Amino acid sequence: MDPIPFKAQNIVYAEDQPEYIPLPVHKAEDGKVTSVWKLSDEEREKVAKGAYVCLCQSTFHQALQPVNLWVDDEVVEFMKCEDCGIFGPKNYDFNLCSECHESRRESLEDKG
Ligand SMILES: [Zn+2]
Repeated sequence: MDPIPFKAQNIVYAEDQPEYIPLPVHKAEDGKVTSVWKLSDEEREKVAKGAYVCLCQSTFHQALQPVNLWVDDEVVEFMKCEDCGIFGPKNYDFNLCSECHESRRESLEDKG
């Protein structure tokens, strides 16, 4: 699985650090960093047969940061959130960031 360049990327981490693979990302105003990873044909076959996706994060003994992994048909689409105005990854069919989407859902559940 390798990170790939994508249209909305605005930074490449570790560009000049040979010990790491350069990581193209979109870094949002709220600090969320999104990268896009492509599975090799062999990995696709394994995942199709039920293999798991594993994530290892180097923390350098600092607090573990929340992470989110998902599968998308296309390279991540980015949008400006209707509620808070942050530019970040699009969630489902809504023009809302994950926090605003979640808080709208919670307020709907409270009402109904
Ligand atoms: Zn938002």
